[in-house]
Amino acid sequence: MPRLKHKLNLRVVIMTITLTIMTCVVGISAITSLTELKEDYQQVKSEHFESLLAITQLKVQTNKILAATNNMFLAENEVDLQWEDAYIADKATWATQTSQQYADNLYAYQDLLSLNSALSAQSDAISAAMTKKITLANQVLADYQDVEVYRRDQLNKGNVSVAVTLDEVLLLFNPMLNNASSDSSPVAVKELISPLQSVMSAQEFQTLLALLTGTTSISVDYQAYLAQLSVVEQLKSDHKALTQSIISVIGDSGLAAQKAFLTNLTKIEEKISLRESFLYLLLLTCIIVAIILITLQTNLLRRVSLIRQVIDAGDSKNQYRIAIKGSDDISEMAKAVKGYIETILEKDQALSDNNKKLQHLVTHDDLTNIYNRRYFEIHMAQEHIRYLRYKEPYCLAMLNIDAFKAINEKYGHDIGDKVILDFTLRVDNQMRQTDVFARLSGENFILLMPRTDQGNALMLMERIRSEIIAMPTVVGEEKIEFTVSIGLMQVQEVDDIEDASQQMTFVSQALAEAKDTGRNKVSSYKSGSL
Ligand code: GH3
Ligand code: MG
Repeated sequence: MPRLKHKLNLRVVIMTITLTIMTCVVGISAITSLTELKEDYQQVKSEHFESLLAITQLKVQTNKILAATNNMFLAENEVDLQWEDAYIADKATWATQTSQQYADNLYAYQDLLSLNSALSAQSDAISAAMTKKITLANQVLADYQDVEVYRRDQLNKGNVSVAVTLDEVLLLFNPMLNNASSDSSPVAVKELISPLQSVMSAQEFQTLLALLTGTTSISVDYQAYLAQLSVVEQLKSDHKALTQSIISVIGDSGLAAQKAFLTNLTKIEEKISLRESFLYLLLLTCIIVAIILITLQTNLLRRVSLIRQVIDAGDSKNQYRIAIKGSDDISEMAKAVKGYIETILEKDQALSDNNKKLQHLVTHDDLTNIYNRRYFEIHMAQEHIRYLRYKEPYCLAMLNIDAFKAINEKYGHDIGDKVILDFTLRVDNQMRQTDVFARLSGENFILLMPRTDQGNALMLMERIRSEIIAMPTVVGEEKIEFTVSIGLMQVQEVDDIEDASQQMTFVSQALAEAKDTGRNKVSSYKSGSL
């Protein structure tokens, strides 16, 4: 048993350790997986979220710069230009700083940076060109005023034809109309005013010519203004191209960022499902191992309880129905216990059989197998007690085969035995189930008939006696005729009888009387008569 206990303890310890290790493995795997996934998530967050944010911010700021550069083309004075200049410089600085800050996370960072500086340079060029355009426009306006003053002066002097011609000339230089299609060159202006030579003095005409086509005249300034206009137009188209590039690079960067973001997200998703499958597999393994361990343990306990069952079944016949399989220690032990109990049961059965035999020997006669004297005396003592209590009559009869000695002598002792046996069988056939018939000694018998009165007992005795006479005992070819003498008494009538042994005396007296008075008869005991 100590070995078994040690073994069971060892099993429990191994089971506990195994389950603990497996729980730890599952726990550590789950935590490791979560930590790794968290790191991946952080990486994606720092890489992609910030890229997307930076690109979005750059997009917004670039759009603002582009709006400002477009506004510059619409500027009508230098104040507006300065304001836009300052605004663009501010945004461009921010864009450069932001680009540098997120350089690691920005796709096409170099492209964006060079486009940004190109945009800054272009805004400077636009600013310069527009400043020049505005200055030239102002100059043309001043020249226009001069010519207008001159024209009014000529009108006041009555030189109507000069005034009319100057009106036509001035139409060429209206900066508001920007009428580039009409020829406003000094040659064309000279041609337009040449008819005035006839109505003006040569000096006056030279003065007018200088005013309109001289080096700082309206015609020259206007030509410069037109040239500047085409510079601005060129800038506009350059700006448009640059704008397209910027929009496309930023768009591409955004798409690249989104694509990279999605790619990494997909990778994380794949990793998550892989880890998930791994954890499920691990969990399943744990469950299977746990089931195996529990089954082993249950099996062990079941076999231990088998021993209990075998012991509990004890001396019942269920013992034999308990099947013990297996050849391990516990099964062997259960088999051994079962074997011990079976041996004990067999011995117990043998003992009980012997006891019954012994009991039979003690209470029965060897030859006739009817009750012996010992049993009869005990029984009669009890019957007498019952009689004393309930006063129910019972009868006693003592039966003796007549001249038995002669039978022995004539036929031999063995045949004498057979006569005795045959006699008991015949009496046994006649008496009631409740009667007790015993052999006192030799050919002397006694019969106790409970709840029987003298009359009925007498009838039975006569019947026995007659049958003995009528049917001799047959042994082989021998027919042995014999008679029986019977002494009878009813206990009820003998009031002074105190105990059972006294009655034996009385009934033997009745038998003696039957013998003495000729044998082959029934003599009844009469109280006080003997
Ligand atoms: P009575 O009519 O007066 O009874 O005469 P009896 O011969 O029957 O009586 P007695 O007492 O003189 O003889 C009984 C004989 O029975 C004596 C004995 O040898 C014989 N006997 C006693 N026990 C047995 C026995 O078990 N078997 C046989 N065969 N004979 C027995
Ligand atoms: Mg006799």
